[in-house]
Amino acid sequence: MESHTNAPMNEIIESIAKEKGFAKVFFLPCEPLDRHIFEAQKEGQVASALKLPHDPLSVYPWAKCVLLLIWAYEPFAPDERIPAYYLASNKAYHAAKEVAAEIKASGFRSELINLPARSLALQNGIGSAGKNGLLALKGLGTRIALYTLVTDACGPVKPNEPVPDECGECNACSLACPAGAIGAGLTPVKCMRYEMDTGEHPEWVNAVMPGFLGCEICQHVCPKNAGLRVIEPSDDVKRAFELKRLLSGDDAEARRLAGKNMTKEGKLINEARVFAQRDGILTEK
Ligand code: SF4
Ligand code: SF4
Repeated sequence: MESHTNAPMNEIIESIAKEKGFAKVFFLPCEPLDRHIFEAQKEGQVASALKLPHDPLSVYPWAKCVLLLIWAYEPFAPDERIPAYYLASNKAYHAAKEVAAEIKASGFRSELINLPARSLALQNGIGSAGKNGLLALKGLGTRIALYTLVTDACGPVKPNEPVPDECGECNACSLACPAGAIGAGLTPVKCMRYEMDTGEHPEWVNAVMPGFLGCEICQHVCPKNAGLRVIEPSDDVKRAFELKRLLSGDDAEARRLAGKNMTKEGKLINEARVFAQRDGILTEK
């Protein structure tokens, strides 16, 4: 760990997290997630989220604090197939591991824990949940990746975070969703992301999926993201996701960028085949 003077551990950890690229870090109590919030959030989560622990002390009894790490990212244009979120989320995952490693290197305990991060945020008054089921933070919109760590290096600090506006009368995501998954809230089993965990997707998903690994349509149209700068993927990233490269079976670099867990079972190659058929590059299935 670099020298961080004699600052309290919260400040030192915040400084480490920012050095690693996180936009914000919140120091939260190790309380069980409120059952009502947790149950309500289940309705907005994909199936894998239902298995997440909701009591950090049941997993790590020594923990004194939950760190909620916020990684902010800039979106790509709506017609870009390369998934800005998954590139960001993968970078954030590795950065979160480095934060934990630095805390450990200073003699404390720290572990990544897969808590339902959005429920954790809402329970602590951080951000607001939209009709599209996503957490939004003021100034960052929904373009965030969340990671949670536990540690015994410091205690909680009451968050002082402005809560963004609620959705109000807005319906933009509901109107734009190609799967009809959004009404007063998200129906997760209707969202195409629910069907995109495995290597091959159902025909209806193949027909409408706008990009690799998921769908960001409800985030592109959301006014909470209106102030964010839209960027282009770098040339290296574009090369990694070239259809011809993926169709040749070379998905190694794209998988490294988007994360190995998210891209198992030849998912990127199968999706490339779907896009190539749509583009008329490939005719046979
Ligand atoms: S991610 Fe896509 S399919 Fe899912 S709710 Fe948003 S717009 Fe609909
Ligand atoms: S598009 Fe509108 S309704 Fe949907 S989450 Fe954003 S603000 Fe809420």
